[in-house]
Amino acid sequence: MTATPTAAQASAAETFGVLNPATGSEVGRFPIHDASDVADRVARARHAQQWWAGQGFDGRRRAMTRWVRWLAAHCEEFYDLGHAETARPKADVQMEFFAGLEDVRWTAGNAKRVLKRRSVAPGMALANYQASVSHEPLGVVGIITPWNVPIYTVLSGMACALAAGNAVVVKPSELSAGAASLAVESFHRANPDAPAGLAAVVTGLGETGAALCSSGVDKLAFTGSVPTGRRVMSACSETLTPVVLELGGKDPTIVADDADLDAAAEAVVWGGYFNGGQACVGIERVYVVESVRDAFLAKVKACAEKVTAGTDELSSYGPMITTSQVEIVRGHVQAALDGGATALIGGVESIRPPYVDPVVLVDVPEDNPAVVEETFGPVIVVNTVRDVDDAVRRANATAFGLGSAVFSAKQYDGIARRIRAGGVTINSVLAFVGMSSVPFGGVGDSGFGRFHGKDGLREFTYAKSTARKRFDVGPAIQAFPRTAEQYDMVRKVIRLRYERKLR
Ligand code: NAD
Repeated sequence: MTATPTAAQASAAETFGVLNPATGSEVGRFPIHDASDVADRVARARHAQQWWAGQGFDGRRRAMTRWVRWLAAHCEEFYDLGHAETARPKADVQMEFFAGLEDVRWTAGNAKRVLKRRSVAPGMALANYQASVSHEPLGVVGIITPWNVPIYTVLSGMACALAAGNAVVVKPSELSAGAASLAVESFHRANPDAPAGLAAVVTGLGETGAALCSSGVDKLAFTGSVPTGRRVMSACSETLTPVVLELGGKDPTIVADDADLDAAAEAVVWGGYFNGGQACVGIERVYVVESVRDAFLAKVKACAEKVTAGTDELSSYGPMITTSQVEIVRGHVQAALDGGATALIGGVESIRPPYVDPVVLVDVPEDNPAVVEETFGPVIVVNTVRDVDDAVRRANATAFGLGSAVFSAKQYDGIARRIRAGGVTINSVLAFVGMSSVPFGGVGDSGFGRFHGKDGLREFTYAKSTARKRFDVGPAIQAFPRTAEQYDMVRKVIRLRYERKLR
């Protein structure tokens, strides 16, 4: 058996280039796959999936473990490619690679425990049956990924889908197609005996993604922006293809009056600026209780002043990936200042495309675009609140609900439980993102469905119930002709089982 064809070997005639956003130079060229290319990859994946399902949990664990080892041994290739395509410091690329690798390791090691067939109680009325539930692979999963963490989103999606027994067809972002394609193809490099096309990549622009949505895949896992997510869901509705949507965020952090302010300031600055703020779970809003506001702002300022944008190995973060994203950031900073906010650090002058230096905005009106819309840049809004109740109310006031954080010595639990978000970190930021054992995903405009953990594995299966009759009891109620005896028996069972309990 042969390995999957690389993106470069594909049949498509048209191509697109990936440009380094810092230099504008082309670092890769890829085919634009059309609907027939996509249909071909999905058909081949469907064929290969039969083999993969037949490997069982143990065979799949062995193949995925080989894959983990291959990835670890070739990590420098990913850092180089990730850095070349997005101009992010290699430390940012390394971090997303690490998180993706851990997801592959965890799903490989835990799929059997989570998904294997299990016996369940059949219930009193059907006590003569033996019942079990299994989690079956769906078939072929389409995965569409964004540019900002191109390796992580591919590895994490593939990990859940493959460990659950599916084949995958991945459409990475056109802005970072090289590292993402390598992540897909690496599965076959580690497993040269696997049938071609089990893990396939299709490259191209939005049209290629749209073709994958309409291709008849058995599930579509989309990670990207809210507007594209809407289009994906709409296209998938035509074929009733189920979707997972991992969308944007406007993550809040609450700093209570008993918080460790040094830790909070350091974490907020890191959480707001890593990856240049171009992270779905980046810290975009901070609500600080008024009694500690001044002390907290002084510490945030001191931390943020040390942050640098550039492409050096030790730069804090790199350039903005697109000029359109620079303009969104400019619009939000300007809107906040026009709305009466003050800039603690930076301002409109921080925007020097393709870079945006760190910006901290204070006292931004709660209905301002800088507070309600995803900025996706190195801009942190810090607003002052009366108390933690006020903080929770404001934290929950946007349409998003992805991640969140709470800093408090004693009140953290009461605050964390009331935040409407898919994840919350207490006295740190973003920790739940790196934990492969917990579910990751959002509510509201941040999407639905989960990667990671048990929920992430089950997301890529369907539950199948099996009921085996072991022996006959009493008059058969599943047989003709109907008899008075049947009615009488069911009447008695209902009375015995439910009536007394309801009184
Ligand atoms: P995007 O929505 O512009 O693109 C994402 C992917 O969708 C790309 O591969 C693109 O080619 C494809 N696409 C475009 N049009 C399509 C269509 N009509 N049908 C199908 N696919 C189509 O997003 P982006 O700019 O690459 O990424 C940034 C966004 O992703 C931010 O909003 C960020 O918050 C979000 N994001 C979310 C998570 C998460 O896990 N929740 C993780 C990373 C990024």
